[in-house]
Amino acid sequence: MAFDLEMIQAVYAGMGQRIEAARTAVGRPLTLTEKILYAHLYGGTVTQAFERGVSYVDFAPDRVAMQDATAQMALLQFMQAGKPRVAVPSTVHCDHLIQARDGATEDLAVANDENREVYDFLASVSNKYGIGFWKPGAGIIHQVVLENYAFPGGMMIGTDSHTPNAGGLGMIAIGVGGADAVDVMAGMAWELKFPKVIGVKLTGKMSGWASAKDVILKVAGILTVKGGTGAIVEYFGEGANSLSATGKGTICNMGAEIGATTSVFSYDEKMGDYLRGTERAEIAAAAAAVAHHLRADDEVYANPAAYYDQLIEIDLSTLEPYVNGPFTPDAAWPISEFAAAVREHGWPEKLEVGLIGSCTNSSYEDITRAASIANQAVTKGLTVNAEFTVTPGSELVRYTVERDGLLDTFAQMGGVVLANACGPCIGQWARHTDDPKRRNSIITSFNRNFAKRNDGNPNTHAFVASPEIVTAFAIAGDLTFNPLTDTLTTKDGQQVRFDEPQGLEMPPQGFAVEDAGYQAPAADGTGVQVLVDETSERLELLDPFKPWEGVDLMGLRLLIKAQGKCTTDHISMAGPWLKYRGHLDNISNNMLIGATNAFNGEANNVRDFVAQGDTYNTVPQVARNYKSMGIGTVVIGDENYGEGSSREHAAMEPRHLGVRAVIVKSFARIHETNLKKQGMLGLTFANKADYDLIEEGDTIDILGLTSFAPGQPLQARLHHTDGDTDLIYLNHTYNQGQIEWFKAGSALNLIRLKESDSA
Ligand code: SF4
Repeated sequence: MAFDLEMIQAVYAGMGQRIEAARTAVGRPLTLTEKILYAHLYGGTVTQAFERGVSYVDFAPDRVAMQDATAQMALLQFMQAGKPRVAVPSTVHCDHLIQARDGATEDLAVANDENREVYDFLASVSNKYGIGFWKPGAGIIHQVVLENYAFPGGMMIGTDSHTPNAGGLGMIAIGVGGADAVDVMAGMAWELKFPKVIGVKLTGKMSGWASAKDVILKVAGILTVKGGTGAIVEYFGEGANSLSATGKGTICNMGAEIGATTSVFSYDEKMGDYLRGTERAEIAAAAAAVAHHLRADDEVYANPAAYYDQLIEIDLSTLEPYVNGPFTPDAAWPISEFAAAVREHGWPEKLEVGLIGSCTNSSYEDITRAASIANQAVTKGLTVNAEFTVTPGSELVRYTVERDGLLDTFAQMGGVVLANACGPCIGQWARHTDDPKRRNSIITSFNRNFAKRNDGNPNTHAFVASPEIVTAFAIAGDLTFNPLTDTLTTKDGQQVRFDEPQGLEMPPQGFAVEDAGYQAPAADGTGVQVLVDETSERLELLDPFKPWEGVDLMGLRLLIKAQGKCTTDHISMAGPWLKYRGHLDNISNNMLIGATNAFNGEANNVRDFVAQGDTYNTVPQVARNYKSMGIGTVVIGDENYGEGSSREHAAMEPRHLGVRAVIVKSFARIHETNLKKQGMLGLTFANKADYDLIEEGDTIDILGLTSFAPGQPLQARLHHTDGDTDLIYLNHTYNQGQIEWFKAGSALNLIRLKESDSA
């Protein structure tokens, strides 16, 4: 599929000298993370040491991957940058827009029909600008990247928060917003705050029911959803070497759930096996030749506490399977304690659906282990008590597991195979239910379980676990069942226990596929026409945002003071809205509709102080009302605001609807960067208690912008309805380049200005 061997060889050829220069500059042995990052500096030369967690650094990633929901806006933006062709190898993957309803064949046909104009746009724009295009049904972006493009020691960005999945093959792979993808595709530097490095030492060896998924479920419990923020998690130790490359991918994938910038493993023979198994023996050989560059220096492994910012140790020999949830992926329950937790919290014990697969867990190893449990339902004569679905991560996996009879095994236990796509993982699930609001429980082998994510029902208690645990639970239909110790009753009244799952890392007959679903771009795309219908409700060419006026922002209105969790799903909900990802004005009608208004505890109901009669209305409508009167607005948020996905719509929509500043207790990294890219002010309370000073009728002045500078706090004056005022300090993390984005109105405005200057 056109992996670029020459590009990879060039990366390896330059690594030794750059790493040596970095070692000298830093003055100590290097972690793997540092080796890869220093080998990917924009401009190529290592001239200084960077301070972890402090320095902003320009990088030159090797490639870009985009999924169809985020690619629309990214490519609409790229078109505005005025470049003839992408500067680095890039791909588009059609995976997010396929709704799961009846099964793979039927659902894919419906998606092809309903999303035709979007797929045509993405195919044509890819063809024109030299981008590889993966058709609907080809698979989920991260699995396809792992199978085709990830390589040890490489660096990539992807417009999806689970891009870190490629860390399973030793790549620094980071989820970003579409605006970052535009930068890299346009040949510009990509900026990142040099991350801290968390070391996770894996000792021992797993056995029985424990799987790679349980490593990250346990780590999520230790670090919580914020614990990885600003850090790359580096796994090492003999335990790491015992995990399959795809198992490593699962662990890295879910690093997104602890807020980590990404996660990575050092190169080992398991990666070599996977590269050879996926027809990339040349890369395995090239990586093996520079293997000493693809691991931390020996001194780091000998004394890890001295070199990592934080060190965690996990003994795989004693690792229990975990079930995490509900509503957050860091509520980690060892299986031995889970049943008691279910009873104690009163979570619905009856399990309604088990869902396996997704980009997180649909490797050959995952499917064989789950199938070994499914097979026992058939051979032991067990009734299956919950619905069960299988989402293969790619056509390569699907074709191979079908050939090897594994899909038949799931079918025999009543399972439904869904399209090779995101489906229920991203709310694209026409779930069969008699009451879409009922309290109920489901369990998935996916990565994320925020409220409403899977089926839109706030009362669905979603838990995450390994595919084999999900399969066992689906058979039992009961969340208080412990597959390791409890018995089930067969159809003829016998008590039986599950045998431990058995799996194979790689297919004994090798992978196979008839049509992987790839379309190569035109060698010369100058004559290719990009298809965008002017009357489309789903695609709209962009107008540039206005530059900063050059003065402080006075008299802004409070739009919403969001309370508690406010993820990118709350800010820009997915599900049915995904279809408007390429149409900024239409998708803006979902802006912040999931956020809880701190003043009335309700979602999507905020006070409108300029409408007649002082009324309440939806957040987007109130924002439009203020905008129509030329009044800018402010959004106030709580801790870890914008956690979740990388979608830049969560920043573009407020920008489009007139929000000038988002002021919060703390930000999730990607969202904070996305706000900056769109020319917004993303600010934090210097004193978190000042959140409580914000009142419903406030108008707000943002002060200090004429001397906006790195490290200098800004101020806000709050004008309350009783005539009182408060003056508070606001911190920010803008560097000089990002301040220029703010002034230009957006990062893209700045790119275009530079492009026209150089033309
Ligand atoms: Fe798709 Fe879910 Fe993976 Fe995101 S996490 S890429 S929605 S399968």
